[in-house]
Amino acid sequence: MSAVNETLIRDVVAEVLGRLGGSATVPKPASQPAPPPAVVPACGCPPPTKTPSSSARHRFGVFQDANEACAAAHDAFQQLSAKGVAGRTRVVEIIKTLCEANAAEWGRIELEETKIGRLDHKIEKLKGQRGIPGVEFLQPYGLSGDHGITLEEYAPFGVIGAVTPITHSIPTMACNIISMVAAGNAAVFNPHPGAAQCAVTAARAFNEAIRHELGIENLACIIESPTLESFDALAKNEHVKLLCVTGGPGVVKAAMASGKRAVCAGPGNPPVLVDGTSCLNNAAQCVVFGAAYDNNLLCIGEKEVFVLEPFYDQFTAALEKNGAVRLNDAQVERLAKEAFVFPAGQGAGCPHPVVNRNLIGRDPAVLAKVAGATMPAGTQLLFAETAADHLFVEEEQMMPFLPIVRVKTVDEGIVQAKRAEHGYKHSAIIHSHDVANMTAMAKALETTLFIKNGSCLAGLGSGGEGYPNFSIATTTGEGICNPRTFTRVRRCVMVDKLRIF
Ligand code: NAD
Repeated sequence: MSAVNETLIRDVVAEVLGRLGGSATVPKPASQPAPPPAVVPACGCPPPTKTPSSSARHRFGVFQDANEACAAAHDAFQQLSAKGVAGRTRVVEIIKTLCEANAAEWGRIELEETKIGRLDHKIEKLKGQRGIPGVEFLQPYGLSGDHGITLEEYAPFGVIGAVTPITHSIPTMACNIISMVAAGNAAVFNPHPGAAQCAVTAARAFNEAIRHELGIENLACIIESPTLESFDALAKNEHVKLLCVTGGPGVVKAAMASGKRAVCAGPGNPPVLVDGTSCLNNAAQCVVFGAAYDNNLLCIGEKEVFVLEPFYDQFTAALEKNGAVRLNDAQVERLAKEAFVFPAGQGAGCPHPVVNRNLIGRDPAVLAKVAGATMPAGTQLLFAETAADHLFVEEEQMMPFLPIVRVKTVDEGIVQAKRAEHGYKHSAIIHSHDVANMTAMAKALETTLFIKNGSCLAGLGSGGEGYPNFSIATTTGEGICNPRTFTRVRRCVMVDKLRIF
């Protein structure tokens, strides 16, 4: 057998094996067309050809080893560069289309694997990828003057190492890929181990479709069995020029200690202030909608409410009218006892209890059972009055239970809200028609998202103006991630008589 035939057979076998591991949910191409021609440079030279190393072929982005994944992503970055902006645009469309087409199935497998959140909202989060900005977001900044022309362009970094949370595994990976590839980068993901398999399914589908349509392999790689060690290898790899982490305080700290530049979408504990100057029913409706969304897994989700005392009764009655169920003191304490675990050797005075993962993102019915409460079917949210220093106020608990705190003045409400937010500078919400109160709260908390008279989701374009993203770079200050977040600004200067007037 000739060497050529041998290689051909090896490739076919590898392809079949790769496809056997592929997603059954991905629409398969009717036939395998040849990859589109590469962009030919204006100078007429042959286009750069880069083929992935044989070990990285037919992997559809799925790797065990972080260093192998980074090398494959680096190859893919170079292939993407050769395809120009048209290639990036095509990839963005592929990711959005696959998320829409597979929303029901991928929502189901994510819920099945993680056991947290709600299926309807998991599906919505995948369909919502359509609104993530693409290449159109990268408008260069141009200057023209007596000394010539200058252009500041948004250039890619290369390979980006990304970490995704258990709370929105596929949605975060998908919107990261859209933003990163729109900006011309490739990516390697170290997903949360508790949500890795669903992410692998989606990543495999993305890479398979990208390879089919553009001939690029391994543009969005993923570590199949992610660990802290694989994160470490990712962070240290020479090809990784930027990190993007979405998660709690631990991963933010690890990314910032890595020595690499990091975009950190960190934790939140969003407070709400209701001062009684706006419609209380609208406030209650918005709070129930936001806090119940995906069983309060959203980092932007309403986590505690401060209400001016004279409006407390009317506001809490409106919560009930809008589908929330009130718990009494004894029920809250039963729930709190299960919800917060104190590490061995530390008493209830420990400032940092661990939130019980078995209750995070669970249905209100599960929490009601733990609390010893009954609730009608279809209940969206549980709530109860608590003190301002209750653990449910202090901790980012990510459960469909909302502590409501009475405050005597707006100033007291702002002080308590700032305290509960812990300086994360993530998200805060006010229901008010008093501009001075709005401004005072915004100035005091300095949060990345500040929403007035809407639910938290209005901050991500659902019911408010703006584009969505599941990575909100709070800690490092880039804000709601978009393609520009993943670029380097490069200035190109031409000194000459170039003006036409
Ligand atoms: P988590 O911090 O437990 O895990 C997040 C990711 O970081 C996972 O992939 C995990 O494996 C990894 N990780 C954790 N510690 C690490 C370490 N020391 N080194 C390397 N990797 C590490 O968070 P979670 O439970 O998956 O998600 C919920 C948290 O994420 C909440 O705090 C929420 O506010 C935050 N979050 C923030 C945003 C945002 O845009 N700012 C979005 C979603 C979630």
